[in-house]
Amino acid sequence: MQQTRFLKIFIFFIFILQIMPCFAETIYLQAKEYLDVRSGQMIQPGNVLIENGKIIAINPINVPASVIHIKKPELILLPGLMDMHVHLSVNYGPQFALQMVQEDAAMSTVRGVKNAEILLKAGFTTVRNLGVSSGESFVDVALAKASESGWIQAPHIIPAGHALSSTGGHLDPDMFGSYAPNVLSVSYRTGVADGVDEVIKAVRYQIKHGAKVIKMAATAGALSFDESVGAQQYSDEELKAIVSEANLHHVFVAAHAHGTQGINAAIKAGVRSIEHGTMINDESIRLMKQYGTYLVPTAYLSDRPKQKYINSAIESKAEYLRPFAVQSLQKAIYAHVKIAFGTDSGVFPHGENAKEFATLVKRGMQPIEAIRTATINSAEMMEIQDRGQIKTGYHADIIGVVENPLKNIKTLENVVFVMKDGKVIKD
Ligand SMILES: [Zn+2]
Repeated sequence: MQQTRFLKIFIFFIFILQIMPCFAETIYLQAKEYLDVRSGQMIQPGNVLIENGKIIAINPINVPASVIHIKKPELILLPGLMDMHVHLSVNYGPQFALQMVQEDAAMSTVRGVKNAEILLKAGFTTVRNLGVSSGESFVDVALAKASESGWIQAPHIIPAGHALSSTGGHLDPDMFGSYAPNVLSVSYRTGVADGVDEVIKAVRYQIKHGAKVIKMAATAGALSFDESVGAQQYSDEELKAIVSEANLHHVFVAAHAHGTQGINAAIKAGVRSIEHGTMINDESIRLMKQYGTYLVPTAYLSDRPKQKYINSAIESKAEYLRPFAVQSLQKAIYAHVKIAFGTDSGVFPHGENAKEFATLVKRGMQPIEAIRTATINSAEMMEIQDRGQIKTGYHADIIGVVENPLKNIKTLENVVFVMKDGKVIKD
């Protein structure tokens, strides 16, 4: 009898909890204007009503009395920026070869936490982390979860887990330091995989442990101890196997690719994006348009002053690539290839990512096109439906700058206000 009464009270209590209106936090952000990235228009004023981290109205006629006001009459608002090629747990420099063997996953994660906060405060509210961390652990998956749980101040993170590479290929961890055999333990678990069966296993393993995109090295590269910079490093069959397996899980593939042959083979295999795309030819352009492939040019890398790498061989490979990277991107812009924003930050200091915009403009983009690469184009590439614009129903991922970025693109290098999911991160 007594038990039944308790049960009734309990059920009643649960019922009350369910019908209680949730005490939503409503914010009214008022700014001078905002950039509608889709139309390319500046719209005045820039008043955004935000509830539970989402935009619920723009320039509303009626505003609820109970809202929290954030008044920024001097600011121009843009959607939070998206960088589709970063390395959160990397701070590249001459010490990098040692770092790979001196740091374990715990240290790599802490480094990633620090860098993620730097990126968020620079205005990047979404990043795609394309591999490279110490050991077998899934550092970027952990960072992504910590970010979504609100444990750390970080962008939304799309993790790749371990990048796939052939044995001795560009992203085989051994190739960053030319280590003696068995110094690092490498296997399909760390992304080193050869042959159709093993690459499939490597893809499945990354996805099983939380990868939301697959990164792989289709060709050689600059920062590894490969002889070449652009040789194809996966066969056509292996490339196709990687893409079709990833696609079975509704996961896209991003291909690191410098050399023409590898670029074209990766496009034909169906990768979603070509990273770097340094030696694009007319055939690559034709294929990218046919397959709808995105280029993530990491263009600012070739505008940076010459930097210190692990050794002089790597330095000269990086120098060799510069003029090709410049020409290829100019060609791609002229041909209206789809371009998403990516920087490779980690290879250079995190936080300088927005310098990519000025480089894109220098290569021939209009400022609005450059801004679209880091907003709607990146969102479309990753099929993210609710980020990349200041729009009703979208995440309240919003940044503020003091100058009109269509007139001075460099103002994006100095983001003064950052909001992510309705929370003010930087003011
Ligand atoms: Zn990279």
